[in-house]
Amino acid sequence: MIPRVLSGVQPSGDLHIGNYLGALANWVRIQYDYESIFCIVDLHAITVYQKPDELRGKIRELAALFLAAGIDPKHSRIVVQSTVPAHAELAWLLTCVTPMGWLERMTQFKAKAAAQESVGDGLFQYPVLMAADILLYQAAIVPVGEDQMQHLELTRDIAQRFNSLYGETFTMPATKLPDFGARVMGLDDPTAKMSKSATGAGHAVALLDPPDRIRKTIMRATTDSNPAVDFEAMGPGVANLLQIFQAFSGWTSDQMRAHFTGLRYGDLKKQVAEMTIAKLEPLQQRYRQITTDPGYLDGVLRDGAAAVTPIANATVELVKRRMGVYTSGD
Ligand code: ATP
Ligand code: MG
Repeated sequence: MIPRVLSGVQPSGDLHIGNYLGALANWVRIQYDYESIFCIVDLHAITVYQKPDELRGKIRELAALFLAAGIDPKHSRIVVQSTVPAHAELAWLLTCVTPMGWLERMTQFKAKAAAQESVGDGLFQYPVLMAADILLYQAAIVPVGEDQMQHLELTRDIAQRFNSLYGETFTMPATKLPDFGARVMGLDDPTAKMSKSATGAGHAVALLDPPDRIRKTIMRATTDSNPAVDFEAMGPGVANLLQIFQAFSGWTSDQMRAHFTGLRYGDLKKQVAEMTIAKLEPLQQRYRQITTDPGYLDGVLRDGAAAVTPIANATVELVKRRMGVYTSGD
């Protein structure tokens, strides 16, 4: 059997180069080695308030961006999470085997809750829904950015607990990080992860930003008080710019050192901006092409849901039987 890959992105804002380098680009690289399922996780997005019309638009935009980035719908499944009800159903079943103490330790919950006036219970339960997304398909590999490592560990803990309570049921999923770009930092504040939900004009480069805007954002990126690149003593802002360049270019660390040592920050930024623009241009072109035909996108999403629903339903049925919940055979 070919191992299964599962990953997802929330339609919670404009996709940025962190999402691309940390997740999407890696998906594209490995998709043919596995049976691949990539989700637009709209049930995760609503753990913080989303304007309904904007959310509807973002779901389609995200699906088109998956395709534009190079996900091949003839091979890989692109699925909107809410179109497969088994995600929410398994999440409840797993909620019942997850100790609250495990969820209280999640750093993403702490960070996101601190930014909210009123914290919905969904934000607290978020990692259980994520565990359900993965375990539902018995995924072996989960390609994500570094910020999701803690949630993946929790997913394995939940799977292990379920297996020991009810008998071997779930495959243990392994985390797969990209070699470079696993944690892209905010350009305005290199101590904070670049995030879709963060506001502020200088924070992120979005995948659909025009070249002028990309140049402006990168040229204004926070660096440090040194005059030029020094690999022995660099601040997080410079390290972040170099990481972005390396992830886009695929250069080795030796090449990076030889090329950038001693370069003034203005020139470093120019080169990072031009590399970013060059790598995003073909994606943007394909995006424009794909969005001229909304019917095509509908078809991809319909096919995706139809292909994965039987796998998902079979897992929920098995889990219910293991737990003693009423199933069709009882
Ligand atoms: P939000 O602020 O709404 O949580 P996000 O930018 O964190 O948005 P997610 O949809 O939560 O994006 O995550 C989608 C994928 O992108 C995950 O695999 C995550 O690990 C990865 N990712 C998110 N931010 C970064 C980043 N700054 N660098 C590398 N990978 C990232
Ligand atoms: Mg996130």
